[in-house]
Amino acid sequence: MSIYVLLKQVPGTSDVKMDEETGTMIRTEHKNVINPLDENALSEAIRIKGAKPEVKVTAISMGPPHAQKALREAIALGADEAVLMSHRGFSGSDTLATSKALAKALMTLAGGRLGKDDLVLCGERATDGETGQVGPMVSAILDVPVVTYVRKIVLKDHYIEAERVVEEGLELIRTSLPAVVTVVKDINQPGFPTLSGKLRAKSKEIPILTPLDLGLSQEDVGLQGSPTRVVKVFRPRLSRDTIMQKQDSSCVAVDSLMSFLEERGII
Ligand SMILES: Cc1cc2nc3c(=O)[nH]c(=O)nc-3n(C[C@H](O)[C@H](O)[C@H](O)COP(=O)(O)OP(=O)(O)OC[C@H]3O[C@@H](n4cnc5c(N)ncnc54)[C@H](O)[C@@H]3O)c2cc1C
Repeated sequence: MSIYVLLKQVPGTSDVKMDEETGTMIRTEHKNVINPLDENALSEAIRIKGAKPEVKVTAISMGPPHAQKALREAIALGADEAVLMSHRGFSGSDTLATSKALAKALMTLAGGRLGKDDLVLCGERATDGETGQVGPMVSAILDVPVVTYVRKIVLKDHYIEAERVVEEGLELIRTSLPAVVTVVKDINQPGFPTLSGKLRAKSKEIPILTPLDLGLSQEDVGLQGSPTRVVKVFRPRLSRDTIMQKQDSSCVAVDSLMSFLEERGII
């Protein structure tokens, strides 16, 4: 059984900045972290491996060369292998192009198609793009089941049971494998890297795949493969005025406040 963890490197949450001219995210090498929910996905894979040591955990990321750092962290945390998809041809990919590329990488790594017990784990959403589309899109492209918003996974023989968080409570879903599961933060408390993990991460070779390696053309990925166009990016301007009113009694103050709200059609 193989578990593939889709892992995205994102800017630290307070650090997301957009280029208003180009409509793209400004990504610098500094203060990038593993998308927090992807750490939960990875921890879940490692938990499953803990009970079934024959499981192989592979972390996969598509991103700039410095995303290697996130993958080394994944190895330090317990992943067996890590693969980076990085090339100029991938840049500008929207969620569809990203999902196509990730699905193709999964098929390639699995030797053509996912194995009958394989599982793909990812975060429910990434803190930067935040669309929550990639997991379900990857499953649609691979034509395998998807279970979203999962907070518990129980691995059975050739299938899983998953507790899915919905507005009214929880759903218990049973699905055959292979499948894609997107996780929420309640699923676990991510662990810490071990010393031996850190040492392994240092020397581990991380293969870098290009669109060509995956048999993808320029029309499949990058800007050309992305039907989404960011028309405009802007920061909403918030303005607040404060009006101080001093009244002799609370009754007068309340009357004054009521008239103020009525005049403006608020009540
Ligand atoms: C028109 C357009 C142009 C864009 N241009 C750029 C650009 O130039 N450069 C750029 O970096 N981004 C660009 N983006 C953003 C890019 O599309 C998203 O980063 C990407 O599609 C993932 O979407 P998301 O962040 O909403 O992921 P979500 O769907 O919220 O992520 C869900 C989960 O999917 C997995 N996942 C998502 N992305 C990756 C990944 N890359 N690798 C591994 N796992 C992943 C993770 O497990 C994650 O938790 C662009 C988006 C649009 C719409």
